[in-house]
Amino acid sequence: MSIEREDLMICPARVTLDAAQMAFFDGLPTKAPSVQAELGCELEQGHEGSHAALGQQVDTTMWWIQWTLSASEINPYTWCPATHLPDTERRDDKDCALFNGHPGSHSSAKRSWQASEAA
Ligand SMILES: [Zn+2]
Ligand SMILES: [Zn+2]
Repeated sequence: MSIEREDLMICPARVTLDAAQMAFFDGLPTKAPSVQAELGCELEQGHEGSHAALGQQVDTTMWWIQWTLSASEINPYTWCPATHLPDTERRDDKDCALFNGHPGSHSSAKRSWQASEAA
């Protein structure tokens, strides 16, 4: 049994959403489950700029929480275009799961940075 995780590659920063931010996500027109109050940065460890965690997705808009040591805010983004196939709307695990213009390396797995070694 070998479960290889690549957690070491992920930025360890975490953020706790305040009531206003939770209310914002609750008000979005999406059927997705509620956003967790505490989220972890999904960018590469050692990245530049603000930390970022995906909060909610509405159609083609992704709402990311971005934060620094002193402040946090919610911003809309589109998907990072890396490896996005132009002839399909579907996304799969081969597509980068981060926002357009993100710092650091592309993430090839949504939510979990576990490497796909099946290939
Ligand atoms: Zn970070
Ligand atoms: Zn990317």
